[in-house]
Amino acid sequence: MGDRVIAQVFGALLALFMLITPALASAAGCEVELFVLGAGQDAGAPHIGYPEDPAWADPELAQTATSIAVVDHVDGQRFLFEATPHVTRQLQLLDALAPTDSPGLGLDGVFLTHAHIGHYAGLMYFGREGAGANGIPVFVMPRFAAFLRENGPWSQLVVLENIVIEALAADTPVMAGARVQVTPLPVPHRDEFSETVGFVITTGASKTLFLPDLDSWEEWLAASGIDLATRVAEFDHLFVDATFFQDGELTGRDMSEIPHPRVMDTMDRLASLSPELRRRVRFIHYNHTNPIRFVTSPESEVVGKRGFGVARAGDRLCLSP
Ligand SMILES: [Zn+2]
Ligand SMILES: [Zn+2]
Repeated sequence: MGDRVIAQVFGALLALFMLITPALASAAGCEVELFVLGAGQDAGAPHIGYPEDPAWADPELAQTATSIAVVDHVDGQRFLFEATPHVTRQLQLLDALAPTDSPGLGLDGVFLTHAHIGHYAGLMYFGREGAGANGIPVFVMPRFAAFLRENGPWSQLVVLENIVIEALAADTPVMAGARVQVTPLPVPHRDEFSETVGFVITTGASKTLFLPDLDSWEEWLAASGIDLATRVAEFDHLFVDATFFQDGELTGRDMSEIPHPRVMDTMDRLASLSPELRRRVRFIHYNHTNPIRFVTSPESEVVGKRGFGVARAGDRLCLSP
């Protein structure tokens, strides 16, 4: 009799353990995780019209346009930031890093910073000619929303409901699942077709700034009163525009006419911060001419020696342990 009670209690405990094991596994590992899927400038590398690019001969040196994913392991949800022209390969990478059983592309939302090709043109693969996606929420600012609704081929994605537009408002958070809050932060940039934003990604345990593309730190300061150096401490992780390393790297072009912070300038601005704060800053969105794209370049070494990081495809960070 006593043995039977013990066996029943043991059985009940085992069933309970089996029930809670998946949640425990997530809690023991990481509940919300960020993955870098690409870190290049819009057109990637090897670059169109640039036969000298070493990535033609060595595919290991190729880079895709900047994109990150945030994955809620507890609820099995995946959110993509930027739909780049290389989204096909990038979702393949995400499937390898954070597999999902969800049907279709396994995307619960896509956040887009602005309407320059490297940041949204990958939406074209969501349509009839590609994935034939079903109702993927696409979070964009109001002008960008109107641009997608009113111009082909994007309007077809809306009409066929491959995507569902979710309008964002400046500085107003929205939820991405149950554990992640995303807030668009307007920044100055060439806004031909849309606004440009960075995203603040907040979990219960961390705050991340994703700011891949803007004209200059000075203009941001003038427009919003936000000075990068004074804001670094607010974030646990910062991914910031590193399009060019320094002036002179585009041969034959006057770079004073071309915006984007230079990596050297950004490092100078942040040089007085403590090593712990500098370590939080990772450079992303680098042009094919920017030598930090090569892991072993002297310029990548300089970035490391000065206490900063370079984002690389395949990097992963736990945002909520
Ligand atoms: Zn860009
Ligand atoms: Zn841009």
